Amino acid sequence: MTIRRKVGLAFGLTGLAIALFTFLAIDRQFAAVEQAALLEARHVGLGIADTVQEIGIKNADRVQEFVELLNQSSKRDVVIVDAGKIGIADANPQERGQAFDSDSNGEVAHTLADGRPRTFIELNASHPQGIRQLVVPVYDARGGARKTIVGAVVLEYTPIREELLAASRGHLKVIGAGGAALIAFILVVGLGISRQVTGPLHDLKNAVLRVKSLDYAAAQVRVGSADEIGVLGQAFNEMAHTLAIKSAALHAYKNQLEQRIADRTAELSVANVALQAEIEERKLSAKRNEYLAYYDSLTDLPNRAMFSRLLHAGIDTALAEDMQLALLFVDLDRFKNINDTLGHATGDHLLQEMARRLKSCLRADDAVARLGGDEFVVILQHITDASEVEAVARKILATASKPFGALGQEFHVTASVGVSMYPKDGSDERSLMKNADIAMYHAKDEGKNNFQLYSAQLDVHTFERLTMESALRQAMARDEFELFYQPKIDVAGGRMSGMEALLRWRHPEFGLIPPAKFIPLAEETGLILPIGKWVLRTACAQNVEWNIGAPYPLCIAVNLSARQFGDEGLLADVVAALQETGMDPSLLELEITESMLMRDIDKAIGVLTALKNMGVRIAMDDFGTGYSSLSNLKKFPLDTIKVDRSFVRDLPGCFEDRGIAEAIFAMGRALSLTVVAEGVETEAQADFLRLHACDKFQGYLFSHPLSSGEFGELLGKQLRSEAT
Ligand code: C2E
Ligand code: MG
Ligand code: MG
Repeated sequence: MTIRRKVGLAFGLTGLAIALFTFLAIDRQFAAVEQAALLEARHVGLGIADTVQEIGIKNADRVQEFVELLNQSSKRDVVIVDAGKIGIADANPQERGQAFDSDSNGEVAHTLADGRPRTFIELNASHPQGIRQLVVPVYDARGGARKTIVGAVVLEYTPIREELLAASRGHLKVIGAGGAALIAFILVVGLGISRQVTGPLHDLKNAVLRVKSLDYAAAQVRVGSADEIGVLGQAFNEMAHTLAIKSAALHAYKNQLEQRIADRTAELSVANVALQAEIEERKLSAKRNEYLAYYDSLTDLPNRAMFSRLLHAGIDTALAEDMQLALLFVDLDRFKNINDTLGHATGDHLLQEMARRLKSCLRADDAVARLGGDEFVVILQHITDASEVEAVARKILATASKPFGALGQEFHVTASVGVSMYPKDGSDERSLMKNADIAMYHAKDEGKNNFQLYSAQLDVHTFERLTMESALRQAMARDEFELFYQPKIDVAGGRMSGMEALLRWRHPEFGLIPPAKFIPLAEETGLILPIGKWVLRTACAQNVEWNIGAPYPLCIAVNLSARQFGDEGLLADVVAALQETGMDPSLLELEITESMLMRDIDKAIGVLTALKNMGVRIAMDDFGTGYSSLSNLKKFPLDTIKVDRSFVRDLPGCFEDRGIAEAIFAMGRALSLTVVAEGVETEAQADFLRLHACDKFQGYLFSHPLSSGEFGELLGKQLRSEAT
């Protein structure tokens, strides 16, 4: 229930109470009038009864006179009845002698019986509201115990009552008007108070509801008074204002926060996408890494790690089945040359081709892996006899040496294979690998393109290898190097035109060591630079000596290593050697190989041109093994090409080699180069070369490389025979 209703109800109830009170007051007034009229009637009735007693009821006519007189003087309507209720006197004389029966409940009879006055209302057609009557007894005597009721006075008192009512009517009007005015006042005041109190409260309620619905800006109330409600309104307005400010700030903060959340969500979703991609990438890369961890990406062969697993599994199987297992270490010969001259792409292509060829040589049980570079390794299972391994090794050599096509040409590559066997040569990976490696190096030493089975004897070579490096470092100081000389023969005249200086290492324990055994190591360690310098100086000095007294000038050829050729100090070293020995530069020929030139063609042309400008001659050594094309050859200022002995070896029988040799001679002629054939061992070879206009020979047919003493003797003999 609203306060307005409660206040209204309170004032309404007050008004009702006043109305009730007014009604009661009026009612009391009526009752008093009634009482006064009754008292007056009783008084009059008793007086009449006394008078009738005095007259004596038996004197009916006198009584009638008295009654008529009373009626005339006081307008009283009176009936006197005897004990039998018969009217002996009546204000209306016609009705005398009649039995009185206007009392509805026999009140007259009752009073005649017990003597107690009574009132009753006589119902009458002419008086619809009835006529008020009083009945009092009439006794035969005044006082005393023996008085007897002889009749009754029936007195109408309505007129008195009417008079009294008329007299108090003004009074009643005042009470009624006062009550109504009070009620009206109460209602007006109530309404006013209700308006005063509930109006602002109603506004406040509405404002609070607006606050509840977060509409702070509209939540302001009108403050019209300074009372508690006014103070409340003021305080509420301030509170709503503060709330509005805080809400606006909160709203702004919320917006900011939402924006930040939106931004962050966007960032997160971008990050999530990136994360997903990253996860995918990681998965892929994990797969890739797993592949890379166990496979060689170039050839798709198992790599070293996988090989290791395969070998362990193979050893376990061989042990369980009491069989042998073979490990073949396959290394391509001169692979470095191919990479340098034809480029890495061709080198890679060759390795892939080799991987395919090696796989084709093997049975399902066998495995081939690439350890890196040009090193392959083959595992052969279920071996009962070494001859089976040899058969596979031969197959590998044959397949490796098949022509290989690249850049529109065909090339020949060979391989060297070292074999170790389980359990004979080792029972674990390390020893089997070490021994296969030793066997492979032995195969290289034996001239490449062959295979070797490991044997304990080969270990000696390995030992040599290990101790060689420290020995090599001391060899210079200990003066252990020596030059051997091999004559070059002029084809036309058949006489010696010069010599090639070939380095030897006279080791105090191992004896004479050929250059192939220590030059690669000297290259690797850089020792080749001081050694090369020494060779150059020694060869020049020796040549100057031999030229003294010679009937014609003798040339000397000196081999340069790759490292020497690339060294900044080369030109200065050559100049120094020439100057120190006083040698004629045109008698010095420097031998270089194709691969040295191909590494950096522009630089090579620069170095060669500078050497040429000094007057030194340039020879291309081992021609044919490095795959140089004719167009490349034209770029360099060459004087001589030396045909590699591998092309001479099978002459004149081998049709293929004959073709190659003829092509080289023709090319040499076309470029006006001196063509020298290396490794001429037989007369047949010499005849073929003579026939094809080769310029010079070099080979065992004429002479092995000789020590300077021996060579000096040979030279002396030769010169002497010339002289004769
Ligand atoms: P190369 O310059 O091609 O030397 C020719 C090689 O062929 C020599 O081997 C020689 O002994 C050998 N030879 C000559 N005639 C025949 C023959 O009829 N049949 C056979 N089978 N072989 C023959 P060597 O002295 O062992 O030298 C090998 C290589 O070592 C040389 O090949 C050269 O590249 C290098 N070398 C030799 N001395 C030096 C040097 O002072 N400095 C540098 N950097 N390399 C050198
Ligand atoms: Mg040479
Ligand atoms: Mg050579």
